[in-house]
Order: sequence, then C-alpha cells, then structure tokens
Amino acid sequence: MRESWHEQFAESPDTLKSAGRPQTRVPVLDLEIGGDEFITMAGPCSVETEFQLIATAHHIRRAGARILRGGAFKPRSSPYAFQGHGLEGLKMLARAREESGLAIVTEVMSECDVSMVAEYADILQIGTRNMENYALLEAAAHSGRPVLLKRGMVATIADLLRSAQCLLDHGNPHVILCERGIRTFETATRNTFDVAAIALLKQVSHLPVIADPSHAAGHRELVPALARVAVTAGADGLLVEVHPQPEKAWSDGEQSLDFSEFDAMMASLDPYLALRNLQPPLHETVAGAGVMEAMG
Ligand code: PEP
Ligand code: MN
Repeated sequence: MRESWHEQFAESPDTLKSAGRPQTRVPVLDLEIGGDEFITMAGPCSVETEFQLIATAHHIRRAGARILRGGAFKPRSSPYAFQGHGLEGLKMLARAREESGLAIVTEVMSECDVSMVAEYADILQIGTRNMENYALLEAAAHSGRPVLLKRGMVATIADLLRSAQCLLDHGNPHVILCERGIRTFETATRNTFDVAAIALLKQVSHLPVIADPSHAAGHRELVPALARVAVTAGADGLLVEVHPQPEKAWSDGEQSLDFSEFDAMMASLDPYLALRNLQPPLHETVAGAGVMEAMG
C-alpha cells in the first residue's frame, strides 16, 4: 500500500491491510461477505406490510440476491413522514427470513434499540446519519452481530475508517463498509456516487466493501449502471432498493427498482462478475493489464 495512505489513515490502524492480516470475511448464516461470492442485498426501503416483504423476499431470492434488506426504523428528514413500524417491522422481517431463508439486514438508529434489533436481524445497519454516533457504534459493536457501516453523506474516507476502527476497537471484527454516495454541489442525482472510494477502500482495507447505488443515484434509471460500476471498482456486494410497486412505496420509491427491473439489473451484472472472478482481480491490476493476460 502507498506510504501516504498509511499516514492518512494512521488513526484507524486495525482497518488497514498489513502483512499477515487476512481479508475479513464476515459470516452471515451460510454466507460470507468479503469472500469469493459477490453478495447482493435487496429489498424495500421501508418494511410496509408482510405481503410486500415476503413477495419481495421470494422474488429477489429467485433473482440471485442472498440477503433481504428493509427498514423497520426509518431516519426520515420530515417528522410527518412514515417513521417505520419498529418492533412490528422487525417481526415481519423475521417472518420473511423464515419463509425465504434469506438473512436480514436492517437499520438500528438508537443505542437503546440495539439489543431488540439484534434479536431479529442478522446484520445491523448503521445509517449515513449515524456514522459518527459513537454511543450507537459502541452498542452495535457489543451486539454480537455483524455491522454494515454506511458512509456519512459528508464523511471523508478517513472519517469512515475512524468509525470502523471504533467498532473494531470495541471488539467486533465483523465490520462491513458501505459507500452510499456523498453530498456534493451536484443536485441532479440524490448524492454523488464515490466510485474512487470503493477502489481506494479495496486497496487499503481488509474489510468488505458494499455499494449502495440506490441512495447514491436517487433515480431508479441510474441504479443498474452504478451497480455495474461498483462491481468493476471491486465492491464485494450491493445493497439495492427493490419494491413490488415502487410508485406506491412509503419511502424512496423514486429510486426503487420493480421486480423486472431488478431481474434485468442482476442479469446485466453477469459479464462484470465473470471478469471479477478472473485472477488477479480486476481492481488490483494496473489498467486491467493482468486481466488481459488472464483472458489470453
Ligand atoms: C436506507 O438504507 O434505507 C437508508 C436510510 O440509507 P442511508 O442511511 O444511506 O440514507
Ligand atoms: Mn431508503
């Protein structure tokens, strides 16, 4: 790794690659995040009804997703918007896991809720607005569950790694980083997808990196292209919003894919995933030279 990055991320030493430290593989039910398999997590922004959730779970599973997402606690910018079903939503997620066999990732917003959410979820999601909520990070670290840590929308890569360091330092080795777009001067997209952050994190850190093209784009038309870019940048997986009827979604419908759009996105990833599986990995070669050799 470049010496200057060592210096730049020196406050987060345990997040960095070093000789003898293997790539972190986070075990979740029968899966590993950060291992050989590219893991797609998909589902609605908010858990709305059991029917919505279970229909989505069955569909995404058939299309190749391995983990079901859905928010029971929603951080909404308006106090008048749907705030999530809370415990009832967690119970619906648990039912969907029973029905589909998919693992569950869901957001926890307060340290007071960590033990309750950890009872139902396989992975705790820390949202962009809480990346620097240290009381929440500490409680999540002690939950015994893997933590998906979303990058704060105004956080630098160093800030993200500092929060990851905090989780590791509190004894939880199962940390998954998530790039979900950052605030810039651009307003045509909801956020600016920082692809370079994915490539850089894969260079400097042994932690798995997941890309969330949905919150980055804010518009469903852009999500498949960003997902393909994430694969080529070296991401270990995706977090994608999918809804049976996006126009009726209680939150983030504009950026949610419907079932057939999700199927098309998944199919479009295949050639990129085939390249990813070549050795040496695409993102670790200079200008893809290794890939050209590997392809003969
Ligand atoms: C979400 O995943 O639904 C979400 C609220 O994400 P973020 O914290 O990245 O905005
Ligand atoms: Mn959302």
